Amino acid sequence: MVKKVVHFKKDCISCGACEAISPEYWKLDEEGLAQLLKSKEVDDHWELTIDSEEAAEKNQEAADVCPVNIIHVKED
Ligand code: SF4
Repeated sequence: MVKKVVHFKKDCISCGACEAISPEYWKLDEEGLAQLLKSKEVDDHWELTIDSEEAAEKNQEAADVCPVNIIHVKED
């Protein structure tokens, strides 16, 4: 099971909810914007490939609490 986490970082409003609920994957950077750890920048967003159900659940939790809906867990 391979999935992809997609983050439109430029639209982050620095609320910190993703880091609070899933600190293994999310951390606010020095500018106060959320960073998806170990992700890479692709065009206008950041991406991380994940391959476990636990990773999918933790990132879906972050997606669910993001107030501006800029985190998405997708089939790869
Ligand atoms: S929950 Fe969304 S808006 Fe809040 S810090 Fe994380 S990515 Fe940014």
